[in-house]
Amino acid sequence: MSSIDALSPNVNKKDSIVVLSSTIKSLAHSMGFFACGIAKAAPVDEAVAQKYRKWLENGEEASMAYMTNYLEKRLDPRLLVPGVRSIVSLALNYAPAQQLPKGEYQIAAYALGLDYHDIMKQKMRELAIKITERWQLPKQEEGEELSVRCFCDTAPVLERYWAQKAGLGWVGRNHQLIIPHAGSMFFLGEIFLPFDVDVYDKPMSNRCGSCHRCIEACPTRAIIPDEDFHAERCLSYQLIENRGELTDEAKSHMGDTIYGCDRCQTACPWNRFATPNTEPALQPKPELLSMSKEKWHNLTIEEYQRLFKGSAVKRVKFEGLKRNITVKKK
Ligand code: SF4
Ligand code: SF4
Repeated sequence: MSSIDALSPNVNKKDSIVVLSSTIKSLAHSMGFFACGIAKAAPVDEAVAQKYRKWLENGEEASMAYMTNYLEKRLDPRLLVPGVRSIVSLALNYAPAQQLPKGEYQIAAYALGLDYHDIMKQKMRELAIKITERWQLPKQEEGEELSVRCFCDTAPVLERYWAQKAGLGWVGRNHQLIIPHAGSMFFLGEIFLPFDVDVYDKPMSNRCGSCHRCIEACPTRAIIPDEDFHAERCLSYQLIENRGELTDEAKSHMGDTIYGCDRCQTACPWNRFATPNTEPALQPKPELLSMSKEKWHNLTIEEYQRLFKGSAVKRVKFEGLKRNITVKKK
C-alpha cells in the first residue's frame, strides 16, 4: 500500500471546523486538477461490495493477487484510515497532446509521459497542505498518527466508485470513469480527510444509455455486456501485468500496441470532448516520439532505461517490453 503523509489536524478541534467544499474545489482547480468532488466516507454500497466479492470468487483478477488483499479495507475506507470522514476525489487530464507517429509501435496514452503516481502524489500532497493551511490545522507532530492521507492507484481504494460517488462522472461499460463532456482519460486520486465538509456532492448516474461502442471495439471480448470484466482477456493486463507468455488471443489482437490498450477509451463517444493535457511532465520525450519499429526491435536495456526513466512503463520491465515487441517480429 502506498500513501502520502500529509498533515494531521488537531483531533479535538475537528468538530468545530467548518471546511468549505467550494474552497477545496477552487484550490484543486487552481492546481490543474480537471475535476474535484467530495463524498462522505462510508462503507461502499452493498450491491457494489457483492459484485466485487463475486468478481474475486470467480477468479477474474487473474494474477493480480493484490486485488484480493485488504478486501474489507477496500470495501470500507474507515478501516483503511480510521477517523476518515470525507473523501476528496481528484481527476487529472492525461489526454495526449502529442501522439507517437502513426505506423510505428504505440504505447497507452497514460504512459507517454512520466509516471502518473509521482505526478499525482506531488499534486495531492500540495493540495493537502493547502487545505490544512487554509483552515489553520496544526501540523503533524513526530510520532502522531497520520490522519490526512493521499492515495493514487496503489492502495486498496475503489477509486472509480469514489469518483462517481463524489459526482465526477460515472463508471461506464468500459469500466473507466467517464466525465461528461470530457471523456475518460483522467488519472484519479483521493485525499482522505478526518473532518466533515459543509456540502457533499451527489453521485452521478450512468449516462452510457444504449451505447455499446466500447464492447464492440474490444478485440478480446474482455468487456461483457452484463457488465462483468475479464481482466485476463484484456490486452492491458496481458501486455503489462502478465509476467508469463502472452495468450494467442493477445498476440493476434494487440495490433501495433506494445504497452497497454486504449481501444475501449478511444471508441467512447465522450472522448470526442477530450482536450489535450498541458502538464509538462506528461509530455512524451523527443526520443520516444522518434522511435521507429526498427529501433524498438533493437532496443537495448540501456536505451530502455534512458527512454523510460521515471515512466510507468517500467512496470512491465525490459524483459516484458521485449516480449511484447518480439511478438511483432514473428
Ligand atoms: S483495454 Fe483493450 S482489451 Fe482491455 S477491455 Fe479495453 S479494449 Fe478490451
Ligand atoms: S463507449 Fe458507450 S457504453 Fe462504453 S463507456 Fe463509452 S458511453 Fe459507455
